[in-house]
Amino acid sequence: MLFVIDFDGTLSVGDTVDAMLERFAEPEWRAVEQQWLDGRITAIECMQTQLRMVKTDHVTLENFFRGIQLDASFLPFYRHVSQFAEVAIVSDGLDHAIKVAMKNAALPELPVYANKLHFVPDGIDISWPYRNAACQGGNGVCKCAVARDLSQGDQRVVLIGDGKSDACLAREADVVFAKSGLIRHCKANDIPHFKFQTFADVLAKVKSWPQAMPATSARRDGASA
Ligand SMILES: [Mg+2]
Ligand SMILES: [Zn+2]
Repeated sequence: MLFVIDFDGTLSVGDTVDAMLERFAEPEWRAVEQQWLDGRITAIECMQTQLRMVKTDHVTLENFFRGIQLDASFLPFYRHVSQFAEVAIVSDGLDHAIKVAMKNAALPELPVYANKLHFVPDGIDISWPYRNAACQGGNGVCKCAVARDLSQGDQRVVLIGDGKSDACLAREADVVFAKSGLIRHCKANDIPHFKFQTFADVLAKVKSWPQAMPATSARRDGASA
């Protein structure tokens, strides 16, 4: 079994990238965000434009990343599932921000698949090691391709996420845990899912599974949760 865990709004309490823009970018970042929400630009175009609006120094950003608040119930969840499953953080956010936040919260060092943050004088830039032009999502990280690689097609994939960047994998995952925007996406597309607020909710559900749960049974009882 492979748990694919979103970062922003899922493992972190808020959206790290939005909070960073709020604090350090020119206010025009909001108009760019709206263009993305309206489907007029891709996630890649959106992030590239927004991150170049960030104007601050390296030390200030590192401090900001250390202050990112994480879901305190993630650690007990991780301790339980890592006994029988692999766990990866797969995020359309920024790799360095995630690693700093997790280290600061004294969480174990997990594999992180995310866009690459680059520091440039007085700001940041981004590159896309997990981009997949064939994916309809238009995201920086194609979560379905990453999950396919990691699971090698023979592990059951459990997605835990909250938003637009999770949509491409929601279609393919064996089990979906959803909150906020991802719930709406699953409902609109008839994707069975469990609702959750924190990793304590996810852990409670996972503990009710026999460890060798066949994917089909999760699909069957998933929609009503
Ligand atoms: Mg998210
Ligand atoms: Zn994809």
